[in-house]
Amino acid sequence: MTKQVFVGHIPMGSGAPVTVQSMTNTDSRDAEATLAQIRALAASGCDIVRLSVYDQDCVKALRDIIPASPVPLVADIHFDHRLAIGAIEAGIAKVRINPGNIGSRENVVKVVEAARKRHIPLRIGINSGSIEKPLLEKYGVSAQAMIESARRHVEILEELDYHDIVLSFKASDVRLTVNAYKLAAEEWRYPLHLGLTEAGTKDYSLIKSSAALGELLNLGIGNTIRISISDDPVEEIKAVKKLLKCYGLVDRVPDLVGCPTCGRTDYDMLPIIRQIEEYRETVRADIRVAVMGCVVNGPGEAREADIGVAGGHNEALLFKKGEIIRKIRQEDIVSELKKEIDLMISHD
Ligand code: SF4
Repeated sequence: MTKQVFVGHIPMGSGAPVTVQSMTNTDSRDAEATLAQIRALAASGCDIVRLSVYDQDCVKALRDIIPASPVPLVADIHFDHRLAIGAIEAGIAKVRINPGNIGSRENVVKVVEAARKRHIPLRIGINSGSIEKPLLEKYGVSAQAMIESARRHVEILEELDYHDIVLSFKASDVRLTVNAYKLAAEEWRYPLHLGLTEAGTKDYSLIKSSAALGELLNLGIGNTIRISISDDPVEEIKAVKKLLKCYGLVDRVPDLVGCPTCGRTDYDMLPIIRQIEEYRETVRADIRVAVMGCVVNGPGEAREADIGVAGGHNEALLFKKGEIIRKIRQEDIVSELKKEIDLMISHD
Protein backbone atom coordinates (compact mmCIF):
# COMPACT_ATOMS: atom_id res chain seq x y z
CA MET A 1 0.00 0.00 0.00
CA THR A 2 1.31 3.44 -0.87
CA LYS A 3 1.51 6.39 1.45
CA GLN A 4 -1.34 8.90 1.09
CA VAL A 5 -0.89 12.54 0.20
CA PHE A 6 -3.52 15.20 -0.37
CA VAL A 7 -3.77 17.41 -3.43
CA GLY A 8 -6.07 20.07 -2.07
CA HIS A 9 -9.02 18.08 -0.73
CA ILE A 10 -8.27 15.08 -2.95
CA PRO A 11 -6.52 12.07 -1.40
CA MET A 12 -3.93 10.31 -3.53
CA GLY A 13 -2.59 6.84 -2.74
CA SER A 14 -3.35 4.25 -0.07
CA GLY A 15 -6.57 2.92 -1.58
CA ALA A 16 -7.97 6.30 -2.68
CA PRO A 17 -9.57 6.20 -6.16
CA VAL A 18 -7.17 6.71 -9.07
CA THR A 19 -7.45 10.40 -9.96
CA VAL A 20 -7.69 11.78 -13.47
CA GLN A 21 -5.29 14.53 -14.53
CA SER A 22 -4.59 16.70 -17.50
CA MET A 23 -2.57 19.78 -18.28
CA THR A 24 -3.61 23.10 -19.77
CA ASN A 25 -2.05 24.18 -23.05
CA THR A 26 -3.07 27.83 -22.82
CA ASP A 27 -0.51 30.46 -21.88
CA SER A 28 -0.53 30.34 -18.07
CA ARG A 29 -0.04 34.12 -17.95
CA ASP A 30 -3.49 34.44 -19.51
CA ALA A 31 -5.66 33.77 -16.48
CA GLU A 32 -8.95 33.99 -18.35
CA ALA A 33 -8.07 31.53 -21.13
CA THR A 34 -6.41 29.17 -18.67
CA LEU A 35 -9.41 29.23 -16.35
CA ALA A 36 -11.75 28.55 -19.26
CA GLN A 37 -9.75 25.44 -20.10
CA ILE A 38 -9.56 24.33 -16.46
CA ARG A 39 -13.35 24.64 -16.23
CA ALA A 40 -13.82 22.62 -19.43
CA LEU A 41 -11.50 19.93 -18.08
CA ALA A 42 -13.31 19.83 -14.74
CA ALA A 43 -16.68 19.59 -16.50
CA SER A 44 -15.44 16.58 -18.46
CA GLY A 45 -14.41 14.77 -15.27
CA CYS A 46 -10.83 15.89 -14.62
CA ASP A 47 -9.93 15.76 -10.91
CA ILE A 48 -6.65 17.69 -10.92
CA VAL A 49 -5.22 20.11 -13.50
CA ARG A 50 -1.54 20.93 -13.99
CA LEU A 51 -0.26 24.09 -15.60
CA SER A 52 3.19 25.33 -16.58
CA VAL A 53 4.55 28.08 -14.37
CA TYR A 54 7.54 29.35 -16.25
CA ASP A 55 7.96 32.97 -15.09
CA GLN A 56 6.78 35.46 -12.49
CA ASP A 57 3.87 36.59 -14.69
CA CYS A 58 2.52 33.04 -14.49
CA VAL A 59 2.84 33.20 -10.69
CA LYS A 60 0.92 36.47 -10.75
CA ALA A 61 -1.83 34.91 -12.87
CA LEU A 62 -2.09 32.04 -10.36
CA ARG A 63 -3.49 34.52 -7.85
CA ASP A 64 -6.54 34.93 -10.11
CA ILE A 65 -6.68 31.35 -11.37
CA ILE A 66 -6.41 29.38 -8.13
CA PRO A 67 -9.35 30.91 -6.21
CA ALA A 68 -11.63 30.52 -9.23
CA SER A 69 -10.61 26.97 -10.15
CA PRO A 70 -13.18 24.21 -9.51
CA VAL A 71 -10.38 21.64 -9.03
CA PRO A 72 -6.99 21.57 -7.27
CA LEU A 73 -4.10 22.79 -9.42
CA VAL A 74 -0.52 21.63 -9.85
CA ALA A 75 2.31 23.94 -10.85
CA ASP A 76 4.81 22.50 -13.30
CA ILE A 77 8.15 24.12 -12.58
CA HIS A 78 11.62 23.60 -13.88
CA PHE A 79 14.77 24.78 -12.12
CA ASP A 80 13.56 28.05 -10.53
CA HIS A 81 12.86 27.72 -6.80
CA ARG A 82 11.38 31.24 -6.65
CA LEU A 83 8.58 30.18 -8.97
CA ALA A 84 7.85 27.18 -6.75
CA ILE A 85 7.70 29.34 -3.64
CA GLY A 86 5.55 31.92 -5.45
CA ALA A 87 3.13 29.22 -6.62
CA ILE A 88 2.91 27.72 -3.12
CA GLU A 89 2.24 31.14 -1.61
CA ALA A 90 -0.46 31.72 -4.24
CA GLY A 91 -2.20 28.57 -2.98
CA ILE A 92 -1.20 25.88 -5.47
CA ALA A 93 -2.13 22.35 -4.33
CA LYS A 94 0.95 20.49 -5.58
CA VAL A 95 4.23 21.27 -7.32
CA ARG A 96 6.00 19.22 -9.93
CA ILE A 97 9.67 20.00 -9.43
CA ASN A 98 12.86 17.98 -9.20
CA PRO A 99 14.75 19.12 -6.11
CA GLY A 100 18.09 18.04 -7.54
CA ASN A 101 17.68 20.55 -10.35
CA ILE A 102 17.04 23.74 -8.41
CA GLY A 103 20.56 24.65 -7.36
CA SER A 104 21.85 25.14 -3.85
CA ARG A 105 20.67 23.25 -0.80
CA GLU A 106 19.47 26.57 0.54
CA ASN A 107 17.03 26.88 -2.39
CA VAL A 108 15.77 23.34 -1.85
CA VAL A 109 15.23 24.00 1.86
CA LYS A 110 13.21 27.11 1.04
CA VAL A 111 10.89 25.18 -1.31
CA VAL A 112 10.51 22.27 1.09
CA GLU A 113 9.74 24.54 4.05
CA ALA A 114 7.13 26.44 2.02
CA ALA A 115 5.57 23.12 0.96
CA ARG A 116 5.69 21.74 4.49
CA LYS A 117 3.90 24.76 5.88
CA ARG A 118 0.95 24.20 3.54
CA HIS A 119 1.08 20.38 3.23
CA ILE A 120 1.77 20.57 -0.49
CA PRO A 121 2.98 17.36 -2.14
CA LEU A 122 5.97 17.62 -4.44
CA ARG A 123 6.09 15.45 -7.55
CA ILE A 124 9.44 14.28 -8.76
CA GLY A 125 9.06 13.70 -12.48
CA ILE A 126 11.65 11.52 -14.18
CA ASN A 127 11.67 11.68 -17.95
CA SER A 128 13.72 9.20 -19.97
CA GLY A 129 14.86 12.07 -22.17
CA SER A 130 16.55 13.99 -19.38
CA ILE A 131 18.44 11.43 -17.33
CA GLU A 132 21.74 12.68 -15.92
CA LYS A 133 24.82 11.89 -18.00
CA PRO A 134 26.68 9.76 -15.44
CA LEU A 135 23.60 7.55 -15.05
CA LEU A 136 23.25 7.27 -18.81
CA GLU A 137 26.86 6.21 -19.09
CA LYS A 138 26.38 3.60 -16.40
CA TYR A 139 22.92 2.24 -17.26
CA GLY A 140 22.05 3.55 -20.73
CA VAL A 141 18.47 4.74 -21.33
CA SER A 142 16.85 2.18 -19.07
CA ALA A 143 14.37 1.72 -16.26
CA GLN A 144 17.28 1.35 -13.86
CA ALA A 145 18.70 4.72 -14.93
CA MET A 146 15.29 6.33 -14.34
CA ILE A 147 15.06 4.76 -10.87
CA GLU A 148 18.55 5.91 -9.91
CA SER A 149 17.75 9.38 -11.19
CA ALA A 150 14.65 9.47 -8.99
CA ARG A 151 16.59 8.16 -6.02
CA ARG A 152 18.84 11.22 -6.05
CA HIS A 153 15.84 13.58 -5.86
CA VAL A 154 13.93 11.46 -3.34
CA GLU A 155 16.92 11.32 -1.00
CA ILE A 156 17.20 15.11 -1.03
CA LEU A 157 13.62 15.39 0.21
CA GLU A 158 13.90 12.52 2.68
CA GLU A 159 17.03 14.04 4.21
CA LEU A 160 14.91 17.10 4.93
CA ASP A 161 12.33 14.76 6.49
CA TYR A 162 9.85 15.57 3.71
CA HIS A 163 7.69 12.66 2.61
CA ASP A 164 4.70 14.19 0.80
CA ILE A 165 6.17 12.91 -2.43
CA VAL A 166 4.62 11.70 -5.68
CA LEU A 167 6.75 10.07 -8.37
CA SER A 168 6.45 9.72 -12.13
CA PHE A 169 8.59 7.88 -14.67
CA LYS A 170 7.70 8.89 -18.18
CA ALA A 171 9.14 7.66 -21.45
CA SER A 172 7.69 7.49 -24.92
CA ASP A 173 8.65 3.82 -25.08
CA VAL A 174 5.95 1.50 -23.73
CA ARG A 175 8.17 -1.21 -22.26
CA LEU A 176 10.58 1.26 -20.72
CA THR A 177 7.70 3.07 -19.04
CA VAL A 178 6.15 -0.15 -17.70
CA ASN A 179 9.48 -1.45 -16.37
CA ALA A 180 10.34 1.83 -14.66
CA TYR A 181 6.98 2.01 -12.86
CA LYS A 182 7.19 -1.64 -11.82
CA LEU A 183 10.61 -1.06 -10.28
CA ALA A 184 9.40 2.14 -8.62
CA ALA A 185 6.40 0.34 -7.09
CA GLU A 186 8.82 -2.20 -5.55
CA GLU A 187 11.23 0.46 -4.37
CA TRP A 188 9.03 3.17 -2.84
CA ARG A 189 5.73 3.63 -1.08
CA TYR A 190 5.09 7.05 -2.57
CA PRO A 191 2.04 7.47 -4.83
CA LEU A 192 2.76 7.09 -8.53
CA HIS A 193 1.56 9.44 -11.26
CA LEU A 194 1.18 7.32 -14.40
CA GLY A 195 1.83 8.63 -17.85
CA LEU A 196 3.61 8.14 -21.12
CA THR A 197 5.37 11.13 -22.57
CA GLU A 198 5.26 12.38 -26.16
CA ALA A 199 2.58 9.80 -26.83
CA GLY A 200 1.53 11.63 -29.99
CA THR A 201 -1.76 12.12 -31.75
CA LYS A 202 -4.99 10.65 -30.44
CA ASP A 203 -5.07 7.32 -32.28
CA TYR A 204 -1.50 6.38 -31.55
CA SER A 205 -1.50 7.73 -28.02
CA LEU A 206 -4.60 5.73 -27.14
CA ILE A 207 -2.91 2.52 -28.21
CA LYS A 208 0.45 3.24 -26.58
CA SER A 209 -1.06 4.60 -23.39
CA SER A 210 -3.53 1.72 -23.06
CA ALA A 211 -0.74 -0.81 -23.59
CA ALA A 212 1.56 0.76 -21.01
CA LEU A 213 -0.80 2.18 -18.43
CA GLY A 214 -3.33 -0.64 -18.76
CA GLU A 215 -0.69 -3.19 -17.80
CA LEU A 216 0.23 -1.11 -14.76
CA LEU A 217 -3.37 -0.48 -13.68
CA ASN A 218 -4.05 -4.20 -13.96
CA LEU A 219 -1.22 -4.80 -11.50
CA GLY A 220 -2.69 -2.25 -9.12
CA ILE A 221 0.11 0.23 -9.85
CA GLY A 222 -0.74 3.91 -10.19
CA ASN A 223 -2.60 6.45 -8.07
CA THR A 224 -3.17 9.25 -10.55
CA ILE A 225 -3.04 9.19 -14.32
CA ARG A 226 -2.62 11.39 -17.35
CA ILE A 227 -2.87 10.21 -20.94
CA SER A 228 -0.89 12.71 -23.02
CA ILE A 229 -2.44 13.47 -26.39
CA SER A 230 -1.38 16.11 -28.92
CA ASP A 231 -4.89 17.59 -29.01
CA ASP A 232 -7.46 19.46 -26.92
CA PRO A 233 -6.74 18.32 -23.31
CA VAL A 234 -10.41 17.39 -22.86
CA GLU A 235 -9.62 14.45 -25.17
CA GLU A 236 -7.18 13.24 -22.52
CA ILE A 237 -9.93 13.06 -19.91
CA LYS A 238 -12.23 11.08 -22.21
CA ALA A 239 -9.38 8.64 -22.83
CA VAL A 240 -8.43 8.22 -19.17
CA LYS A 241 -12.04 7.63 -18.17
CA LYS A 242 -12.43 4.90 -20.76
CA LEU A 243 -9.20 3.25 -19.68
CA LEU A 244 -10.13 3.35 -16.00
CA LYS A 245 -13.55 1.94 -16.89
CA CYS A 246 -11.85 -1.12 -18.43
CA TYR A 247 -10.37 -1.91 -15.02
CA GLY A 248 -13.42 -1.03 -12.95
CA LEU A 249 -11.57 1.94 -11.46
CA VAL A 250 -14.07 4.68 -12.16
CA ASP A 251 -17.73 5.27 -11.37
CA ARG A 252 -20.47 6.89 -13.39
CA VAL A 253 -18.99 6.17 -16.82
CA PRO A 254 -21.22 4.28 -19.27
CA ASP A 255 -19.93 1.36 -21.27
CA LEU A 256 -20.76 1.18 -24.97
CA VAL A 257 -20.38 -2.10 -26.83
CA GLY A 258 -20.77 -2.36 -30.55
CA CYS A 259 -20.17 -5.10 -33.06
CA PRO A 260 -17.55 -4.48 -35.74
CA THR A 261 -20.26 -4.97 -38.44
CA CYS A 262 -19.95 -7.57 -41.18
CA GLY A 263 -21.84 -8.85 -44.24
CA ARG A 264 -24.77 -9.75 -41.98
CA THR A 265 -25.30 -6.16 -40.83
CA ASP A 266 -28.92 -5.48 -41.67
CA TYR A 267 -29.26 -1.72 -41.19
CA ASP A 268 -27.17 1.44 -41.40
CA MET A 269 -25.50 0.91 -38.04
CA LEU A 270 -22.29 2.97 -38.11
CA PRO A 271 -23.88 6.45 -37.99
CA ILE A 272 -25.96 5.21 -35.08
CA ILE A 273 -23.10 3.97 -32.95
CA ARG A 274 -21.12 7.16 -33.67
CA GLN A 275 -23.98 9.31 -32.43
CA ILE A 276 -24.54 7.13 -29.39
CA GLU A 277 -20.82 7.30 -28.60
CA GLU A 278 -21.07 11.10 -28.67
CA TYR A 279 -24.06 10.94 -26.35
CA ARG A 280 -22.23 8.49 -24.07
CA GLU A 281 -19.62 11.19 -23.39
CA THR A 282 -22.31 13.35 -21.80
CA VAL A 283 -23.80 10.67 -19.56
CA ARG A 284 -22.62 10.15 -15.96
CA ALA A 285 -23.99 6.73 -15.00
CA ASP A 286 -22.82 3.14 -14.80
CA ILE A 287 -24.91 1.67 -17.58
CA ARG A 288 -24.00 -0.57 -20.49
CA VAL A 289 -25.38 0.18 -23.94
CA ALA A 290 -25.02 -2.18 -26.89
CA VAL A 291 -25.43 -1.38 -30.58
CA MET A 292 -25.34 -4.58 -32.65
CA GLY A 293 -25.65 -5.18 -36.35
CA CYS A 294 -27.92 -8.19 -36.85
CA VAL A 295 -30.34 -10.58 -35.23
CA VAL A 296 -27.94 -13.54 -35.53
CA ASN A 297 -25.28 -12.58 -32.99
CA GLY A 298 -26.62 -9.20 -31.91
CA PRO A 299 -29.32 -10.21 -29.42
CA GLY A 300 -26.79 -11.96 -27.15
CA GLU A 301 -24.83 -8.77 -26.47
CA ALA A 302 -27.91 -6.58 -26.59
CA ARG A 303 -29.53 -8.77 -23.90
CA GLU A 304 -26.50 -8.53 -21.60
CA ALA A 305 -26.51 -4.76 -21.80
CA ASP A 306 -28.86 -2.52 -19.83
CA ILE A 307 -30.11 -1.11 -23.09
CA GLY A 308 -29.35 -2.48 -26.53
CA VAL A 309 -30.39 -2.64 -30.13
CA ALA A 310 -29.86 -5.48 -32.59
CA GLY A 311 -30.47 -4.62 -36.21
CA GLY A 312 -33.11 -6.05 -38.49
CA HIS A 313 -33.87 -4.95 -42.05
CA ASN A 314 -34.07 -1.12 -41.86
CA GLU A 315 -35.09 -1.46 -38.24
CA ALA A 316 -33.78 -2.72 -34.91
CA LEU A 317 -35.03 -4.66 -31.91
CA LEU A 318 -34.80 -2.75 -28.66
CA PHE A 319 -33.68 -4.70 -25.58
CA LYS A 320 -33.89 -3.53 -21.99
CA LYS A 321 -32.36 -5.54 -19.16
CA GLY A 322 -32.46 -8.66 -21.29
CA GLU A 323 -36.03 -8.32 -22.58
CA ILE A 324 -37.15 -7.43 -26.09
CA ILE A 325 -39.22 -4.26 -25.74
CA ARG A 326 -40.16 -3.28 -29.28
CA LYS A 327 -39.09 -2.74 -32.87
CA ILE A 328 -37.74 0.68 -33.86
CA ARG A 329 -37.54 2.10 -37.38
CA GLN A 330 -34.06 2.94 -38.66
CA GLU A 331 -34.66 6.69 -38.54
CA ASP A 332 -35.83 6.58 -34.91
CA ILE A 333 -33.10 4.38 -33.44
CA VAL A 334 -30.81 7.18 -32.18
CA SER A 335 -33.56 9.26 -30.61
CA GLU A 336 -35.22 6.19 -29.05
CA LEU A 337 -31.95 4.94 -27.63
CA LYS A 338 -31.19 8.34 -26.12
CA LYS A 339 -34.67 8.47 -24.64
CA GLU A 340 -34.27 5.01 -23.09
CA ILE A 341 -30.84 5.91 -21.69
CA ASP A 342 -32.28 9.07 -20.10
CA LEU A 343 -35.19 7.10 -18.65
CA MET A 344 -32.89 4.48 -17.15
CA ILE A 345 -30.62 7.10 -15.60
CA SER A 346 -33.50 9.01 -14.07
CA HIS A 347 -34.77 5.76 -12.46
CA ASP A 348 -31.35 4.88 -10.97
S1 SF4 B 1 -23.42 -8.89 -34.57
FE1 SF4 B 1 -24.11 -9.61 -36.59
S2 SF4 B 1 -23.62 -7.89 -37.94
FE2 SF4 B 1 -22.44 -7.57 -36.09
S3 SF4 B 1 -20.48 -8.51 -36.55
FE3 SF4 B 1 -21.70 -10.01 -35.46
S4 SF4 B 1 -22.66 -11.22 -37.09
FE4 SF4 B 1 -21.91 -9.32 -38.05
